Amino acid sequence: MARDPKYDILFEPVKIGPVTAPNRFYQVPHCNVLGHGRPHAEAANRRVKAEGGWGVVCTQEVEIHPTSDITPTIEGRLWDDRDIPQHRLMTDAVHEHGALAGIELLHSGFHATNLYSRVAPVAPSPIMAYGNYPGQARGISKREIADLRRWYIGAALRAKKAGYDIIYVYAGHDLSILQHFMKPSYNRRTDEYGGSLENRVRLAKEVLTDTREAVGDQCAVAFRFATEELLGADGLQVSGESQDIVGMLAEIPDLWDVNISDWSNDSSSARFEPNEGYQEPYTAFVKSMTSKPVVGVGRFTSADTMVSQIKRGVLDLIGAARPSIADPFLPRKIDQGRIEDIRECIGCNICVAQDNMVAPIRCTQNPTQGEEWKQGWHPESIEAAASDDAVLVVGAGPAGLECALQLANRGYPVALAEASEMLGGRVLHESSLPGMSSYLRVRDYRESQLRGKENVEIYLDNKLGAQDIIDLEIPHVIIATGAHWRRDGVGRTHLRAIDGIDKVEVFTPDDVFAGTDISGRVLIYDDDYYYLGSTLAELFRNRGQEVCLLTPESKVSIWTEYTLEQAKVQSRLIDLDVEILVSHRITSLEANTAHLEGAHRQRLKSNFDSIIMITSRDVDDALYQTLLESEDRFRTLRAIGDCHTPGTVAAAVYDGHAAARQLDSGEDIFAPLFRRDLPAID
Ligand code: ADP
Ligand code: SF4
Repeated sequence: MARDPKYDILFEPVKIGPVTAPNRFYQVPHCNVLGHGRPHAEAANRRVKAEGGWGVVCTQEVEIHPTSDITPTIEGRLWDDRDIPQHRLMTDAVHEHGALAGIELLHSGFHATNLYSRVAPVAPSPIMAYGNYPGQARGISKREIADLRRWYIGAALRAKKAGYDIIYVYAGHDLSILQHFMKPSYNRRTDEYGGSLENRVRLAKEVLTDTREAVGDQCAVAFRFATEELLGADGLQVSGESQDIVGMLAEIPDLWDVNISDWSNDSSSARFEPNEGYQEPYTAFVKSMTSKPVVGVGRFTSADTMVSQIKRGVLDLIGAARPSIADPFLPRKIDQGRIEDIRECIGCNICVAQDNMVAPIRCTQNPTQGEEWKQGWHPESIEAAASDDAVLVVGAGPAGLECALQLANRGYPVALAEASEMLGGRVLHESSLPGMSSYLRVRDYRESQLRGKENVEIYLDNKLGAQDIIDLEIPHVIIATGAHWRRDGVGRTHLRAIDGIDKVEVFTPDDVFAGTDISGRVLIYDDDYYYLGSTLAELFRNRGQEVCLLTPESKVSIWTEYTLEQAKVQSRLIDLDVEILVSHRITSLEANTAHLEGAHRQRLKSNFDSIIMITSRDVDDALYQTLLESEDRFRTLRAIGDCHTPGTVAAAVYDGHAAARQLDSGEDIFAPLFRRDLPAID
């Protein structure tokens, strides 16, 4: 298929200093926790994006020196020449597909607690070390500032040697010492690096100029700058000093990469920033202040929005981290006129959560993400079917849909049976909760792909029993029938049913989704800690009901700290006047009253008209268990997704994908083989 000419503008080359990007698709630096610990996986992860058409593909943060050691996380490292070969893996992989390779060099200042190098952390002025680490960062001396400049130059030269085309000077996300110097809240110096704005910007300006002098003949110098921190007068503001900073540095870099800070604002989830291009109000001004190209992000997945950003003079290059993770082939699909094949990011921030857990990247929409080298998975190709045997997939939630789609892509004849009248399983229900509508993309992408395939039959309103399945005589059967929430309170906190729970009427999220009447003051007991507790609280508040959200954890929806949403969740609940009760567990229940015990053994009572338990789920595997009695009739009989092990939507999609790849492979599914990056012993 040919590209729609209205998208031609996206495929124009863009000159960036001494190099030229082949098109306007730009994968901005983003973390993946592959980095220096898993360099082959890192290179393969970036290679797929270059292959998928991103004209520029960047690294994640790359530490320039042991005084900027962000252990325990595993991102990039370019401390000395011995780090160059692993970067070569990445640049060669990216160049092979005609893209430019960019590197985000970074000194993290006090954000680096130097847990490996054990060097005292540095900051513009003395300050407590990052996070809750019980130590301090000391003010960097002027002599050390000269060292710091030399370290930046050394790293830039090494980056050039490693083959990078674009070298970043980074002052964003509140993570970089160059940005720390700009902020009066961190910089109380009285020398020429403190005080006036010109003084506070001096270090960034010097590093930009040094980098240009060192590598600018061959490499473009990019400046990544947070124009807005959403902290009011305590941070950089578009309405404050940011415009002056852009004015001072306007023509020094070859490229401006602009965004909002910190990471929770830059990578805002769809729940809190539902629209593409949400950064435009904060970054649009930059283009009017420089003649150099500007790249920015905003969870762009629509080609029309991208074109509009360029035509309206907001951006020159369409930056993306998450959209490139969810679909590394997004540019190629636009180029080939295959818009409907784009697997759009849902803004769930599971990718971000992995980083915050210091674990290799994964993605809800793209189960191959992070598995490119480890398992040899590719987002757009899959091994051909080993036989003409038909496969029956029972249940069309995320696991069943992904499994059916990939089996169909392999070429197997696939029958997908779903008990209800609509595809989607849990995402159909959960996407109806406040702020969660983007989750429906998990279904929509797979449904539209499946509907276009001749080797797929979809049977809706088709609840299959064991005998039905046996009678079909289909050799491969995959059961993806999901799970349901327990009513007895058993979960993390309670390993046995809660006292008195059998005497009260208890609701679960499944009752909410089924439309059951849940009236009066609602007490939601959240022992799950992810999004269901708070989204249900929002739902009932929006209906005008009184709501108390009770959790044994010390914060509401505590797991959403990993997705960078927790503070926003809490603030929304407070705005909605939801009563929040943390660090309390239910000890017993009686009609309309929950007896509670707090973390400090204090006792409380909470009254309710209706109580909803979000504690743990039981698998819906009765069908699978019955079929196991006739296992010898099938070549494959397997339970996947929530029906096998309840988990996140991302886990269900992954399980469905893995099952499709493993069919007929002879692989031991409980002990799959994968490659590991092993350190060389020298
Ligand atoms: P997962 O997250 O593992 O994909 P879901 O709970 O989202 O699981 O989806 C399970 C799907 O299976 C639901 O849409 C449900 O209607 C369907 N289902 C359950 N039992 C049967 C059955 N016996 N026959 C067909 N579909 C079923
Ligand atoms: Fe988007 Fe979620 Fe994938 Fe991250 S994990 S890229 S937010 S779909």
